[in-house]
Amino acid sequence: AHLDRIAAVDPLVHAFLHVDAEGALAAARKADEDRAAGRAASPLAGVPLALKDVLTTTDMPTTVGSKMLEGWMSPYDATVTRKLREAGVVVLGKTNMDEFAMGSSTENSAYGPTRNPWDTERIPGGSGGGSSAALAAFEAPLAIGTDTGGSIRQPGAVTGTVGVKPTYGGVSRYGLVAFSSSLDQPGPCARTVLDAALLHEVIAGHDPMDSTSIDQPVPQVVEAAKQGANGDLTGVKVGVVREFSGEGYQPGVQRAFETAVAQLTKLGAEVVEVSCPHFDYALGAYYLIAPSECSSNLARFDSMRYGLRVGDDGENDAEQVMSLTREAGFGPEVKRRIMLGTYALSSGYYDAYYGQAQKVRTLITRDFTAAFEQVDVLVSPTTPTTAFKIGERVDDPMAMYLADLCTIPSNLAGNAAMSVPCGLSDEDRLPVGLQIMAPAMADDRLYRVGAAYE
Ligand code: GLN
Repeated sequence: AHLDRIAAVDPLVHAFLHVDAEGALAAARKADEDRAAGRAASPLAGVPLALKDVLTTTDMPTTVGSKMLEGWMSPYDATVTRKLREAGVVVLGKTNMDEFAMGSSTENSAYGPTRNPWDTERIPGGSGGGSSAALAAFEAPLAIGTDTGGSIRQPGAVTGTVGVKPTYGGVSRYGLVAFSSSLDQPGPCARTVLDAALLHEVIAGHDPMDSTSIDQPVPQVVEAAKQGANGDLTGVKVGVVREFSGEGYQPGVQRAFETAVAQLTKLGAEVVEVSCPHFDYALGAYYLIAPSECSSNLARFDSMRYGLRVGDDGENDAEQVMSLTREAGFGPEVKRRIMLGTYALSSGYYDAYYGQAQKVRTLITRDFTAAFEQVDVLVSPTTPTTAFKIGERVDDPMAMYLADLCTIPSNLAGNAAMSVPCGLSDEDRLPVGLQIMAPAMADDRLYRVGAAYE
């Protein structure tokens, strides 16, 4: 049914870069057989899923939305991919994304944009717009995203779906093509909080192949989602982040958010306002740290090791081939980030830019620590505006970067955060997201509050 749905709507939506119908049907048949024999691999055995094209797969290409890796096949599966297969999840295909996960609209994909199923003239968010659009268009009930600055939560918000950035280190990054290693985190995307929780438990857990993986038991998120479903938040303290309102926030988004906060109160939560003064500097710090790490991580695309090679005709020396390949293989946003990052890390500038950004990062982490001494979770709108029009921000990187204003602090601090749909804006009838943030390794709180609210 999902393959038929993809065939019917994906020519317009363009959520997928690659669909593996044969592989999906074989995995589905195997799951059916196992279930009939009484040995279903997991509660999600046989459930179809859309996988963001930044996680490696041995049986499908991994392009990361870039010409640089067009046609490249990974010799190994990402840990997330492996865990999905072991759980009997049916991987339908790989989803579209901003090139190397850099963007907020999926317009930076080298393979053309994805369209938002709510209004196909609008963006589905980014970088994981393919995964969120696949959910919203009913092409898949589950999807995987990765979140460096908001790429799971912001697409979730603008497509009316659920997206979770687990605690940094909660889900393995092994086989995730690196953008900014200290921020990147894979996570579940779904249409309900409980579905996300079931997927979360399949992909989470310690992995010796990732040195930043946390060696602790996985938070009990399924149990928390079930508990939350009773709709009682008595005893839960919720903090509204004061800094995430006012100028730059669409009134329709603000009103939907305020209605959501009132609903949390009705469910029994105690709601207070909390100030996190350094969150105002998060965006600035992120756009130094993420490009710095990207400039280093993307040095591996040197035309010798992976994918594209341009100008290797005997006329050019190795350095020229590298240069021609990087010129042809990377799109404008990726080049912008590499240049920004290289500059910020240069001797003489390191202390003024990268060093300062790291200090701001610590201050943001301390804001969270102080806030979580007062409240169990923090809430804010996920993103200041609803889905904007395709093309509207392509020539204005600063406007594009603002989409992640509210999501970035949790990446910098490494704590857990979720976006859950909170109705439509009364201005444009487009989906709005409620962001819920919890301390590191307290991912279960997101699911309890999210499921109660939903
Ligand atoms: N939009 C942000 C950026 O462009 C976040 C991307 C992400 O989370 N991968 O960097």
